[in-house]
Amino acid sequence: MYLIWSFDTEDYITPQADDALLEWAKLLTRHDVIGTFCMVAEKARQLRARNRDDVIDALRLHRIAYHSNWHSRHPVYTEYLNECGWDDGVAEVEKRESDGIRDVAEIMGRFPCADVPPGKSWGPQVIAAMKKMGIRISAGAYVVDKGRAPASYCGGMTLRYGMAMEDIFNQDDPLRAAQELFTKTAEETDSKHGVIIPFSHPCMAVTDRFWDGLNFANGQNPPPEEWKPAPLRKAGESERFFAFVDEFLGWLKSQGGLEWTTYSRLLEKYPLGRPVAVTLDAVLKMAEQCRERVDYVDLGVDTYTAAAVLTMLVRTYVGGRKDGKLPVQIPHASPLGPIEDPPLQSEGGELDIGELLPALVIYNEELANDRPMPASINVNGITLSPSDLIMTLAEGIISWAVRGRIPERLPIKRGPMFPEIINTLKDTRKPFVFNKEWPIFADDFQGENVAAMARRMVWSYRPLKRARE
Ligand SMILES: [Zn+2]
Repeated sequence: MYLIWSFDTEDYITPQADDALLEWAKLLTRHDVIGTFCMVAEKARQLRARNRDDVIDALRLHRIAYHSNWHSRHPVYTEYLNECGWDDGVAEVEKRESDGIRDVAEIMGRFPCADVPPGKSWGPQVIAAMKKMGIRISAGAYVVDKGRAPASYCGGMTLRYGMAMEDIFNQDDPLRAAQELFTKTAEETDSKHGVIIPFSHPCMAVTDRFWDGLNFANGQNPPPEEWKPAPLRKAGESERFFAFVDEFLGWLKSQGGLEWTTYSRLLEKYPLGRPVAVTLDAVLKMAEQCRERVDYVDLGVDTYTAAAVLTMLVRTYVGGRKDGKLPVQIPHASPLGPIEDPPLQSEGGELDIGELLPALVIYNEELANDRPMPASINVNGITLSPSDLIMTLAEGIISWAVRGRIPERLPIKRGPMFPEIINTLKDTRKPFVFNKEWPIFADDFQGENVAAMARRMVWSYRPLKRARE
């Protein structure tokens, strides 16, 4: 089990939050712990403007991640992505965030190693855009593994946040509450590959309320001259908070079975790299698993997203179409999900191989790494969804392998709208719900288009495997 300490460093309005940040950095250093400070770009710019070189220097002993350009200032990710499709959404995130990433890298002296969504503000386009801009990890993400193991979604690594120190501090006996919560979290975490990420908002060590709720709650968006600093905690409370985390860190360091690590190190151990090709044997195993059940596939040494499985099956037919023999190697690609819902179809029937193969050749041209896959395929007037295609092609490949020749007719199988894993993902961190999930959103904000896009992108989900050492 791994452990990473993460800090959402965001209050750019309350100057006293800078001191809390310094205190956290020093406390970690005293415990010989490396923390990751996830910087809002405006916070980094304010540190520079307020001449807080002491804070920036103290953070040099730690790691730097990214926490958006402006955090809660409207429009936030989900708000503008709700009006976007895929490519324009990715482009919009790049346009709005590239300056922020540049500023954080320049001011903090390092390129951010991960990105953290502000509150519930996220969209699948953010993960894709961050990857294009060089940030491949989304920590505190919403589409995550139930057992907190590293997973991949939209081509990036996703990790789940654990326990918030400031929430625990509000309880009667914070140290005991923290120990109990940690023990409970560890029980729910995969003992080998799980990652527990305790976190804190450094500002909340000195402020009584969140800085952003005060200024940007319920969709309000005042101009900078009207921004109000957060009220401060009562005298002595901040000292009590740091005494509590000091004790908790000491206790945590005495616990066995934990590998204290960093985001970058985790990415080395659980690489996102993908094979150039897979063997026929692997494709046959995929076909066996997917003939009745559409999902990502775990073949022990590696995992394949449902979109990659679809690609491998399509390419088996494309590779074998000339001589009717199963190809020995199949070129790999891991596309994203479709950007629209496939049309609902229920009728069965059969596909003629002479009509299917040319349609697969055209379909295959659109299957590429990190690009959306087509929402449907049309074979001589019959429409198949990606799930229909997976199950139909899988059944055909199994019969092909048994009989030694390409089947002339394929019975159509009808599959579900999404890979099965969606049922686990939707309950783990409610990634497809936005309404009233974050006080910064307007009360009536639904984010329905982002939710729909996020569901379709489940085609790009898979758990990550640890690289052999
Ligand atoms: Zn935040």
